[in-house]
Amino acid sequence: MRALHWDGRELTFNSAYRAPAGSRSALIKVHLAGICSTDLQIFKGYMSFKGVPGHEFVGSVIEGPRDFVGKRVVGEINFGCGQCDACRRDLNRHCPNRSVLGILNADGAFAEYLSVPGENLHVVPDNVSDEEAVFTEPLAAAFEILTQIQVNPGDDILVLGDGKLGNLCAQTLQLTGAKITALGKHADKLALIKKAGVRTIQLSNWQPRQFDVVVEATGSASGFELALLAVRPRGTLILKSTIAGNHQVSLAPIVINEINVIGSRCGPFPDALAALAAKQISVAPLIDKIYSLDDGLAAVDHAARPGARKILLQPL
Ligand SMILES: [Zn+2]
Ligand SMILES: [Zn+2]
Repeated sequence: MRALHWDGRELTFNSAYRAPAGSRSALIKVHLAGICSTDLQIFKGYMSFKGVPGHEFVGSVIEGPRDFVGKRVVGEINFGCGQCDACRRDLNRHCPNRSVLGILNADGAFAEYLSVPGENLHVVPDNVSDEEAVFTEPLAAAFEILTQIQVNPGDDILVLGDGKLGNLCAQTLQLTGAKITALGKHADKLALIKKAGVRTIQLSNWQPRQFDVVVEATGSASGFELALLAVRPRGTLILKSTIAGNHQVSLAPIVINEINVIGSRCGPFPDALAALAAKQISVAPLIDKIYSLDDGLAAVDHAARPGARKILLQPL
C-alpha cells in the first residue's frame, strides 16, 4: 500500500509499504487523515518514533468486529495492553505498555490502510462529514479539559494560542457559559475564533491581567511562561502543548501563587462526535488544504509553514 514513512531522520513516500498485519482487530481504509503539530514534533525527534505517522483519521472498516464492518469510523489512538492496573481501571491512555497510533510503536494514518483494536472505534453519525469527523481526535482533546476541571458559568478563562487546538479549546469552553478570551499572534486565526463568539486579543495588544483558568495551547515553550503569569493566585493552568526537547522555566510562581497545574492530553471521543453532530463546533473553516497522499511530503511542508491551518491527506 501507499504510505508516508518516517525512519527517524527522513520522511519518504513509499508506494509499496507493507499493509497492516492482522495484529489489531480492525482494518480500516483511510478516507482522510489530519496532519497535527504533534506529527511535526515527531519530525523533530518527539517520542523517537519510527514508522507511518498520523493519528487523526476517519475511515471505513474493511475487516473487524461485525458491528463495525462497512461503517464510517474514527478511532481512539492509545492501545493498552489490557492487563495492567491502568488498563483494568479503563485508563488505557495511561497504560505503561501502550502503543499509540502513529506516535509510539504503531503505524498510523498517513497510509491507505491502518489497523486498530476494535474497542477503540466509534461510528461517525451520518450528519457528520469526513471533513468534520477527521477533527474528532483533537476535539476530544479539547473536551478532556471539561472532564478534568469544573467550569462554572462566569469563570474568566484565557485560551493561549490561536492554532487548531487553541481554536477547538476556545469553542469547547465557550459551550459552558464561561467567559472565554483567546490570545494569539495571528489576526486571521483569531478572526476564526471570534466567529464562535469568543473574545479575542492579539498578542501585540495584550495588557497583562489574570484569569481563573488559563489553557496553554500555543504549541511552543514560550507560551508556558506567559500562561503562568496570566493565572490568578489559586487559579488553574491547563497544559495542552506537547513539545519536543527540554525547556527551562522558573517554577517559583506555581508555588508562590499556589497554582493548580493540570496536564491534559487525549479526551472523550463520544463527547466530540456529539458536539460535531449537534453542529456546536465549527471545524470546516480550520481546513487549509486537502492533499492526495501521494503528495504527502508537500503536504507536510505546507503544514509546517507558519500560519498554516489544518492540512488533510486523502489516499485516492
Ligand atoms: Zn494530534
Ligand atoms: Zn496496560
